[in-house]
Amino acid sequence: MRKMEQLFIGGKWVKPSSGDVIEVIDAGDESLLGTVPVAKKAEVDKAVRAARQALGKWADTPVAVRAELLEKAANNLKARGSEIAEVISREVGMPLKMSQRIQAALPVIVMDSCAKVLREFPFEVQIANSRVFRVPKGVVVAITPWNYPLHQLVGKVAPALAAGCTVVAKPASEAPLSAFMLAEALEAAWFPPGVFNLLSGNGPETANLLVQHDDVDMISFTGSTSTGTKIAATAAATAKRVTLELGGKSPSLVLDDADFPKALRTTVNNCFLNSGQTCNALTRLLVPRNRLTEVEELVLPLVAGMTLGDPGDPNTKLGPLVSARQRDRVRQYIKEAIQAGTRLLIGGDAPPEGLSRGFYVRPTVFTDVDPGAVIAQEEVFGPVLCIIGYRDLEEAVAIANGTPYGLAAAVWSADTDRALQVARRIRAGQIDINGAPFNALAPFGGFKHSGYGRELGVFGLEEFLEPLSIQLSA
Ligand code: NAD
Repeated sequence: MRKMEQLFIGGKWVKPSSGDVIEVIDAGDESLLGTVPVAKKAEVDKAVRAARQALGKWADTPVAVRAELLEKAANNLKARGSEIAEVISREVGMPLKMSQRIQAALPVIVMDSCAKVLREFPFEVQIANSRVFRVPKGVVVAITPWNYPLHQLVGKVAPALAAGCTVVAKPASEAPLSAFMLAEALEAAWFPPGVFNLLSGNGPETANLLVQHDDVDMISFTGSTSTGTKIAATAAATAKRVTLELGGKSPSLVLDDADFPKALRTTVNNCFLNSGQTCNALTRLLVPRNRLTEVEELVLPLVAGMTLGDPGDPNTKLGPLVSARQRDRVRQYIKEAIQAGTRLLIGGDAPPEGLSRGFYVRPTVFTDVDPGAVIAQEEVFGPVLCIIGYRDLEEAVAIANGTPYGLAAAVWSADTDRALQVARRIRAGQIDINGAPFNALAPFGGFKHSGYGRELGVFGLEEFLEPLSIQLSA
C-alpha cells in the first residue's frame, strides 16, 4: 500500500492542512492500492505563490541548463521504469508488459525529446525592424486524466518547464501515484524550488480552485470534453490561456484496395489498447458496405482471442477498466446499443465469467452500425468497436467527419497518394496511413470538440510561449 501523506510545494514535501484523502483502487482486484492527500485552498494558494516566486529566475535560466535538468529527470524516471509500469498497470488496468512499453517508457522519450527540441528552438527572431522574443507564458496549471497518467502529465510539464514556465500539477484522482514519482524525479534532478509543484485532489474542488486562481496564467488540460469546456469558460473570466486535449471517436477508414487483414488487425489492436481507454482509439471501422461479411469474419477471431484477465498475468491481452463507475458507464452504452437494435458481433454487457472482482467489460464489437447511432457518435472509453459500412468514397469521408470529434484517424490503401488525398479531407489532428508508427515529435491535438492547442515536439513547446515584439529605430 502506498500512503502518500505530503504534497510537493516550493521544493519541499509539505503536510496538507486537511486530513482528507483519496483512495486509489487496484482496477484488477478492487483492493486498496494507496491513498493521496486532497489539496485545499491553503495548499492551492501556497503552490501558486511558490510557482510565481520561482518564475523570474527560472525564465532567465539558460536554455542549456534547463535542457540538462530535463535530461536528468528523464534518466531518474527511466531508473524507476518497472515500478512506474507496475503501479500504473494496477491503477488503470493496462497489462503489465504493455504498461512497461507505453506507460513507463513513453514519458521518458517525451521528456528527452523536449530537451532536444529546447536546445534547437529559435527563441529570438528578427522581423524587419522588430526583434521578436518568445517568452514563457508564466505560471501553468496542468490538469490531467487517468488513462495514460504519467505520459499526459509529462506531455505538459516537460515542455512548460522547457519553455521557462513554472508549474502546478493536478493529476487525476483515479491514478495519481506516478505523479508523485515525477515530483521525486524532478526533485532529484535539482530543479529549483517552486518550479514544479504537485497537488493531488479532486477535480471540482482542487482543480477548480486552480482554474479560478487570479495568479495563474495558463491552464493546460487533458480530459473529457464536458470538463474541458467548463474549465475554458471559468478560465475566461481571468483571461487565462487555455489548451484543451479532449475526447475522440476516431475513424479507421479502409479503402477498397487496402490490405484488409493488416488494416483490421491494426485497427482492432488500436481500438482495444488499454481496454479502449485511449483518447485517440480507432473506435469506428469504416469499410466498403459490400465487404461487410468478409470484414466481420476477419474481425471476429481477433477479438475472440483477446484474453481478458488480471493485468499482472502475462497471458492477459485485455485488462479491466479503471473504476466501477467507468465499467458501469461502458456496460450501459453496450446495453442501450443492443436495446436500440444494433447488431452485436461479439461481447455484450453481461459480466465476463470467472472475474468476480475487478472492473472488467467484455471486448465488444457492433457491426453494420448506423453512423448516426449513439454508440457510433459518443466516446465510450471502453473496449467497444463499431463496424460501419460505406457505399462510396464520398460517403466514407462524410462518415469519418460525421461526429463532433476530430482527434485522430487512420486511412488504409495500397496507393499511398490516394490515402494521403483522403487523409487531407479528414478534420482530425493526427492521421496515420497504413499503420504508420506514433511520432513523439509530431503535433498531437484535436479539431472540433476534441479541443485546441497541440502537445509534443516544437508545436508543444510553442503552446507555453508568448511572442514579445520590440521595435528598433533605424
Ligand atoms: P475528466 O474530464 O473527468 O477529468 C480530467 C481531469 O480534470 C482530472 O484531473 C479531474 O480531476 C479534473 N476535473 C474534473 N472535474 C473538474 C472540474 N469541474 N474542474 C476542474 N477540473 C476537473 O476526464 P477523465 O475521466 O479523467 O479522462 C477521460 C477523458 O479524457 C476522455 O474523454 C478522454 O478522451 C480524454 N482524454 C483526452 C486525451 C487527449 O489528448 N485528447 C488524452 C487522454 C484522455
